[in-house]
Amino acid sequence: MKTWKLEPLEQGKYNHSDNGAGGKYDGKLVLRPSSLDSYIRCPYSFYKQQILGEYGRPNSASQVGTALHFVMEEAIGAKLEGKELSVDDMQRVGVKAWRSYNEKSEVVFHGEQTYQSMANDLYAGVLGLAEALTCVDAVGSESRHSAKIDGHPLFSAMSGSLDVEIPDGVVDLKFTGKKKSNPKDYLLQQSSYAMLRELNGHNTDRLQILNVVRPTKAAKAKADKDGIELVANWHILEMSPNIPYVQHWVDIILNKTEAYAKFEGTVDEKQDFAELLFQGTSPSNSFLCNNTWCSHYTTCPHVEALRDAEKFEEVEMFGAKL
Ligand code: SF4
Repeated sequence: MKTWKLEPLEQGKYNHSDNGAGGKYDGKLVLRPSSLDSYIRCPYSFYKQQILGEYGRPNSASQVGTALHFVMEEAIGAKLEGKELSVDDMQRVGVKAWRSYNEKSEVVFHGEQTYQSMANDLYAGVLGLAEALTCVDAVGSESRHSAKIDGHPLFSAMSGSLDVEIPDGVVDLKFTGKKKSNPKDYLLQQSSYAMLRELNGHNTDRLQILNVVRPTKAAKAKADKDGIELVANWHILEMSPNIPYVQHWVDIILNKTEAYAKFEGTVDEKQDFAELLFQGTSPSNSFLCNNTWCSHYTTCPHVEALRDAEKFEEVEMFGAKL
């Protein structure tokens, strides 16, 4: 398998905010740590988003998570300037961020969520986050590290923005549903931050996930009954970087996207080739493969193929349950 050597890219040479969704460097696409994760979850979804630019719709759970990220950014920024945001300040920042996202795009409610449950999650999440941040030894926040990719027809760089930098490492905030996350689920994304930092001369031995967990309905009912404020549970998950693992997936993605870019044929032939190259996961293999989480579900050819297979009673060969 062909190996792609990534070269350091000086900070400031690539500025994501100048480029909009997805980002471009030197006229070509930019690979992100989160897009590596997107690829291993579903290559077809990666193709739709990263190559065709058809990004998924934000849902209610991810909007609360994005607002919490903004709260953390403001709180850490203040701390680094020797100030402190009170919990009330943090709540105000969170609500303001959440409102502005809601104004920009329609909320797609996840599961049984409503505006009220989102507000409850946000308040409980900010209280959990305020507790957790007392344990984070921040030395920087929202810094970007990038690397150049030479000679690829579609991608010219890889770049990621880090939530928080700590001595010899990074912390990434994850707001997840109902239970503590498994650090293994984040190894690729976190290790790719480590790879970008190392390439740019920053030692990275420690990777931490600050996992704020959305409270369950039962926890909310108990807090209401006891007349106490609901505080989201939080955990700090530790892992060690695995840079060869990142290089392995970078090579797979760059080789496949290079083959796609070099394919010559009609538009339909190219689409058929893309469907072969970027095989979708099946609904039985991924919790993301459904109409709530995946915005490509209704038009996805891989789901369509499974539906057709079911019609002809061949569904077992795909192991699918639609
Ligand atoms: S519907 Fe399933 S297979 Fe299709 S893009 Fe979404 S996650 Fe992938």
